[in-house]
Amino acid sequence: MSEFLEFRVDLDNFIDDLNTRLKSNNVKIEELLKTEDKTYANFVKPLQMLEERLELFFTPLSHLNSVNNSDETQKIYADSLPLITEYSTKLSQNLDIYNAYKEIQKNENTSLNFEQNRVLELNILHFELSGASLDATSKERLQEINIKKSKLSNDFSQNLLDATNAYEYITADAKDVEGLPKSDIESAKFEEDGEVKYKFTLQMPSYIAYMTYGKNVKIREELYKAYVTRAPQNAEIIDELLALKNEMSKLLGFESYAEYSLASKMAKDTSSVNEFLQTLVTKSKHQAKEELKEVQAMASKPLESFDSAYYSEILKKAKYDIDEEVYRPYFEQTSVVNGMFEFLGKLFGMKFKKVDEKLWDEKATSYDIYIDDELKSRIYLDLEARKSKRGGAWMHNWQTHCKDEDGKTQKASAFIVCNFPDSSKTQKSLLRHDDVVTLFHEMGHAIHHLLSQVNENEVSGVNGVEWDAVEFPSQFLENFAYEPHVLKLFASHYESGEIIPDEMIEKLVRAKNFLSASAMLRQLEFSIFDFKLHTKLYQGQEVQDLLDSIREETALIKTPDYNKFQNGFAHIFAGGYAAGYYSYKWAEVLSADAFFSVVDEGIFGSKTAKKYLDIVLKGGGAKSMDEYFKELMHREPNPENLLRLNGIN
Ligand SMILES: [Zn+2]
Repeated sequence: MSEFLEFRVDLDNFIDDLNTRLKSNNVKIEELLKTEDKTYANFVKPLQMLEERLELFFTPLSHLNSVNNSDETQKIYADSLPLITEYSTKLSQNLDIYNAYKEIQKNENTSLNFEQNRVLELNILHFELSGASLDATSKERLQEINIKKSKLSNDFSQNLLDATNAYEYITADAKDVEGLPKSDIESAKFEEDGEVKYKFTLQMPSYIAYMTYGKNVKIREELYKAYVTRAPQNAEIIDELLALKNEMSKLLGFESYAEYSLASKMAKDTSSVNEFLQTLVTKSKHQAKEELKEVQAMASKPLESFDSAYYSEILKKAKYDIDEEVYRPYFEQTSVVNGMFEFLGKLFGMKFKKVDEKLWDEKATSYDIYIDDELKSRIYLDLEARKSKRGGAWMHNWQTHCKDEDGKTQKASAFIVCNFPDSSKTQKSLLRHDDVVTLFHEMGHAIHHLLSQVNENEVSGVNGVEWDAVEFPSQFLENFAYEPHVLKLFASHYESGEIIPDEMIEKLVRAKNFLSASAMLRQLEFSIFDFKLHTKLYQGQEVQDLLDSIREETALIKTPDYNKFQNGFAHIFAGGYAAGYYSYKWAEVLSADAFFSVVDEGIFGSKTAKKYLDIVLKGGGAKSMDEYFKELMHREPNPENLLRLNGIN
């Protein structure tokens, strides 16, 4: 029998099957809760495996809905979501389970291994962060806060959306659109009363197009002003949200929302996050100033906020541009994939063997992964764009490496989905270099899941990995897509066979690092603002004052007073990034740091690469990434290596 499930979704009976499974799970959970003398083996393990099997059943549907979307998959997926949500909400609020975990932790703490202890620790933490240990009154208040918070977040994004959609700028002067790419002009063009006109909006492709290529400074200024003054009513929502989050954190026993956020993250405390961000500001500033001089030299007047994208583009064209079409012939899809496999073979000893099985699309393929001739896991690749596929690229884990109740090992599997140009018998799929980077990135996530040797599924592979460390393995691998030693394994011209020349690789790196210090400062401005804003209660003008004080350090062009960036900062006020925006840079430092150790050791044959496999990849989420990182490098993460990666001296 195969170690891997067959990919099959019975759409006709899916909802019935799901209902049966959920019902049966609920019965089994009730039974488990009745167990006398609960132990890890007789309670936690069977409960974990119930969840695992439900995931195994559900993942193919959500995968299918993303890669072969149809009215039918949409309907079934939409119908199953409330069922799943109801089930998991009930589970996450079941205090009998929480108490059982605590009891088992107390009794077995010393006899369980670290993986099992981590499962208990994370589950208990999760319960407590949602208020399980509070008294009845506090619990009720917490629930009110949560309901209010989600309504406010929703209003925040609705206001932003309404403001974005309400605005348009129309010009009938063809001179105003000179210099814009043809496709952007076409999108802007319309006819009114027999006259050709051009419309620009605050929606992303349109706004960015004019800010980057639009010659008319008046229009750029108008668009910019409209953009950064959207949704003024969000200021009030920000105050309410900050107050609620602060109250919630205090209820749960934290000094601030920032501390609450860090309770489940890799970063230890607020001062380590603040120091980390400040170090990067200090070290990027000099080069950012130099970059600004270079951009300024392109303009005949002092630069303002609404000029920088425009003149940066002119500078880029003049000095740093790469022509994707020149690169594509070197990145033929099949040779890129095989080259990546060869690279992973050399780095980690992985071998890929194609599997002969029928999947959801004839372009999708699967490979069994071996290390030292031992079968480890299976990966599914679905790389080409098609109508029924959602845009973008992602990794989705399916099976997770673990041992079941009977001690039988389950192997891991995962999907990588991309939207590369499609191939036919007559036409090869030629990738942009960005696509190659994307593939390496997703593969980094995938092998983090696939090479795990952890026996407890809730902390195996990508499960249980802290939020601010999840992108470490993906960015680590992605960095190799710029390395000459790696590129030369597979980047050869699909017609002539010529291997990509060094100058072409150097140009890729220079283009990647174009204005990198300025970009770094901008990201740091957002990160510091987000983090500090959640370290104590800021209200009203204090929010603006905080942002202004940060900008004194990070904004090299003075931001106009009318700019109310915060009212559009949906990541933290309507998304899940509150007191967590720093995570982007945090994970980048880990990945750059580990990456350069491997590079400096000569990549292939690197000792650190071997250790990275043994510690980080095999270890999954069974320990904090903080511990893994120290085991790997024998020191704290070094931000210098992120600067080096970005070409910042
Ligand atoms: Zn990622």
